[in-house]
Amino acid sequence: MSGFVFSEKPIEIASGDGVTLTDTNGTEYLDFGASYACTPVGHCHPEVVDAATSQIEELMYVQASYPHAARTALYEQLSEAGPGDVDNVWLCNSGTEANEAALKFARHATGREKIVATTQGFHGRTMGALATTWKQKYKQGFEPLAGGVEFVEYGDADAMREAIDDETAAVILEPLQGEGGINPAATEYLQAVREATEEAGAAMVLDEIQTGLGRTGSLWATEKHDIVPDVLTTAKGLASGLPIGATLCRDWVAEDAGNHGSTFSGGPVVSAAAGATLDVIEHEDLPAHADEMGAYIRGQIDERLGDGVRDVRGDGLMIGIEVKRGSNRLLRDLAINHQVLALPAGRTVLRLLPPLTIEREHADAVIDALAEVIG
Ligand SMILES: *Cc1c(COP(=O)(O)O)cnc(C)c1O
Repeated sequence: MSGFVFSEKPIEIASGDGVTLTDTNGTEYLDFGASYACTPVGHCHPEVVDAATSQIEELMYVQASYPHAARTALYEQLSEAGPGDVDNVWLCNSGTEANEAALKFARHATGREKIVATTQGFHGRTMGALATTWKQKYKQGFEPLAGGVEFVEYGDADAMREAIDDETAAVILEPLQGEGGINPAATEYLQAVREATEEAGAAMVLDEIQTGLGRTGSLWATEKHDIVPDVLTTAKGLASGLPIGATLCRDWVAEDAGNHGSTFSGGPVVSAAAGATLDVIEHEDLPAHADEMGAYIRGQIDERLGDGVRDVRGDGLMIGIEVKRGSNRLLRDLAINHQVLALPAGRTVLRLLPPLTIEREHADAVIDALAEVIG
């Protein structure tokens, strides 16, 4: 037996450059899933490649208890980037670990056990984060998971108010659900969650692993909703595809976070890659560009895709197209016949998460392909 668990696609990728992936036959594809949002500044961005390459030659690894320049710089950048006073930084290696840390920190800081999560939410696959993930198919056969988790309907402010009490350590949710089908939350809903958690002394954990880093048109989705959570998690594209996660916390959560750790926390190479990725997002003004390109794409979908589309949702370059037939056949058609790689978000939603660097020509090519496949 060789690699297992992942069902592999019939395309072997040889190289990547910007929005383009090239397979071993030399066929080029537009990567409009950004390989699950992991390449916000495009594949192999030269500034990120340079930063990682010089770092690997200088110092490939040192135990996490010794500071080094690349991690110190990343701490500063993330601390600066965090919304409001969410400026304490814990680094790890993936999204699920960032959420795992958030839940541990919240339990420790509050001395409470209960965690409130939402229907259709996705927070990762380790046993704590998985316990807060909604879909049963991810949990089947792996239970019992971490206990103390209660689910409430996503978007229902009253249900949330009712679930949060003085036993609640944390509420965890996405500001715009990704895996669950590209489901946006109303600003009033997120503000209600903020108020209720604050009143109860519980931590509001905002999972921005998919929405963050400029994807939804501002560096963090939370900015558009004008709230500051207690904890914000990020991962996926933070180091342009090298494994990383970060848990950003307010003082009260970080100060009493207890004993948590990880061997690879903020290693030199990944820190250098993340620092360069954040620099590119900032100096290329990618959040604003994502906002503009996203509005353009959603407008074109409305205009050109007509009857085959039930609904278009999302913000910036996180776009869900709800279709009438199953999404898997459409995705296959897009890849094989139009060289466009996109993602599903459930059985009836096509998901676009392109690199934030896309231009009109890329968007138009993908709209043309979608028009043929769906229209
Ligand atoms: C992908 C994702 C995760 C899990 O990240 P991994 O790096 O796969 O562990 C958690 N939350 C959200 C919202 C995600 O999109």
